[in-house]
Amino acid sequence: MSTDVHAPCAGVAAGTAFLSGPGPVVDFGPGAVARIPAHLAALSARRVLVVTDPGLRAAGVVDAVVGPLAASGAVVEVFDAVRGNPTVAVVEQGAEHARALGLDAVLALGGGSSLDAAKGIALLAPSPGARADGSGVTPAAGLPLVAVPTTAGTGAETNGFGVLEDPANRQKVYCGDASVVPRVALLDPELTLGLPASATAATGVDALVHGIESLASRGRDPMSEAFAAEAVRRAWVWLPVAVADGSDPRARAEMLVAAHLAGQALTRSGLGLVHGLAHALSLHTGAVHGPALAAVLPEVVAWSLDADPAGWGRAAEAAGLRGPAALPDALGGLLEQVDTRVSVADLGAAPDDREALARTALADPVSRNAPRHPASVAELVELLARC
Ligand SMILES: [Zn+2]
Repeated sequence: MSTDVHAPCAGVAAGTAFLSGPGPVVDFGPGAVARIPAHLAALSARRVLVVTDPGLRAAGVVDAVVGPLAASGAVVEVFDAVRGNPTVAVVEQGAEHARALGLDAVLALGGGSSLDAAKGIALLAPSPGARADGSGVTPAAGLPLVAVPTTAGTGAETNGFGVLEDPANRQKVYCGDASVVPRVALLDPELTLGLPASATAATGVDALVHGIESLASRGRDPMSEAFAAEAVRRAWVWLPVAVADGSDPRARAEMLVAAHLAGQALTRSGLGLVHGLAHALSLHTGAVHGPALAAVLPEVVAWSLDADPAGWGRAAEAAGLRGPAALPDALGGLLEQVDTRVSVADLGAAPDDREALARTALADPVSRNAPRHPASVAELVELLARC
């Protein structure tokens, strides 16, 4: 795409070619979880694997979903071994489990980690020779998937690709396929009411960054811009409210919609260097995704401003700011407001780690859509020193 620097808020020229594929059916509303059995029945799913994490099981959320599903006559198995930053190993383990039990559908219930793992599990389950890192045989079509996010963050319910960790090779791998795009994205804001403030902030920052990086992505098109601008507009206003009062139903609903819109945007546009560096931080220090983004966000945006004033201008406009130059400070202020202003040192990265972080970030395909690419590893090391 080309960018007209003389029209800072004009967006992509409408003549730019784009193709927008089918996404999930979206079922949004307070209490929407009650419709899960009907959605699975419509997919002829009789034997369902619920992919989730132990925290949601302990909190009773899994039982609340499984109960009505079992009562509807479906056989339900729960796989709750997913942790944050899911690995290729956990996906292969879940797929083996689904295969051994002869299951015919997957219900993803949880945050981005569970949703990402579930996509890999749904894809690999029918294909014993396929591997989560892409080695092995090419997988056949995956099992039908219904995705139910319990955080307002990743927007992982919008697409068929999961981000997994491959610890042996210290890299992120992208595991997925069009066949595991969720058939239904079920968005029930009541599921997010119990999320503590810190997790609300960490996941909400992810949604906000998806919108912002999408607007400045080299891969953007008019549809991604529309989704991303609306995501930023809502998240900018409602994230601080949701963090300050987690029981505010309007704030929870607005953030769940914002996260979904941001997911729709990134699925079309790709992201950028904020995500590339955050992935590297997670791989090297075990940092949680949201704080890892927060640690580099204002500095990466400031460093990239001149490369794409139009894209950053759209982001600033959606945030209600006067122009792109105001964006880095305003982002720092918002992070402060939701108590997520951290440095890479706070997350456990020492000065000696910067070169390895830079190399990992540059090797991550997510960095390619960034408006500005570092000319060298040394330039990225210098940028990290300011984060
Ligand atoms: Zn993200």
